[in-house]
Amino acid sequence: MSDPFESAIEKTLPLLESIRDGVKPPPRASQEALEELKRVAGAVREEQQSALPSPSASTKAEAPTTKVAPEPPKAEPVLSRAVEPWTFEMLRKAILACEKCPHLVRTRTQVVFGVGKPDADLMFVGEAPGADEDEQGEPFVGKAGQLLTKIIQAMGFGREDVFIANVLKCRPDMPVGESGNRKPRPNEMATCLPWLREQIRLVRPKVLVALGATAVEGLVGTTSPLRDLRGRWLEFEGIPLMVTYHPAYLLRNQSISEKRKVWEDMMLVLERLNIPISEKQRRFFTTSAS
Ligand code: SF4
Repeated sequence: MSDPFESAIEKTLPLLESIRDGVKPPPRASQEALEELKRVAGAVREEQQSALPSPSASTKAEAPTTKVAPEPPKAEPVLSRAVEPWTFEMLRKAILACEKCPHLVRTRTQVVFGVGKPDADLMFVGEAPGADEDEQGEPFVGKAGQLLTKIIQAMGFGREDVFIANVLKCRPDMPVGESGNRKPRPNEMATCLPWLREQIRLVRPKVLVALGATAVEGLVGTTSPLRDLRGRWLEFEGIPLMVTYHPAYLLRNQSISEKRKVWEDMMLVLERLNIPISEKQRRFFTTSAS
């Protein structure tokens, strides 16, 4: 037996064709077929509705007898940026939970997020946590960190006024039996760079300072010698980026002339931030002042 729908449509075709071809009035047979199509469609609709559970019956069965507070909305997963932008806290949680580098996850004590003012005008970027940072969960806390703090204070800030972070957030692993710190590899820095980029986008500093050649390489990819880069303005995502020596270099090389170079870089930073430089500050590490 043929499907009633199909046969009704088949019978209606002449009517549709007559409308398309402008035949007036449509043939009587086709009009009857159209009526038949309406009737079959109505019957099918009724059949489908009777198969559905009665809305009133289901409402009664499921209606609660007492008022229940609506369920609170489920928290968005930390990494869900499609629905809302990062907040600083969301970013911190996501970075602290990061496991993108399994070899570093195995050896790290903790992820070193960064420290300082979330909306600082000035942001320092180093290369990676060392043993002290890995242990304490804060960047630049060893001897080099103490020297960086002195530099920041000489500029007229406190550590809490700036933001300090590293390109790599986990301590680079060391070969078994070896102590000390190793330089992060380019692929490790490239893997972690998106986190730093997000931090910089949130902090929105007016000036960035890259501490040492590895930090510059991690940020902008250049491998030029630091002597060619130091004291020069580069740019990271439209933010002026000053390149200077890593404080650890100054600990290894105690000469006044090298300290003065770093200080000159910091004076350029102060000028860029429109912060007045005192005469005393201008004379730091000059031969006459030493
Ligand atoms: S180094 Fe960076 S990318 Fe790799 S696991 Fe640590 S936080 Fe994640």
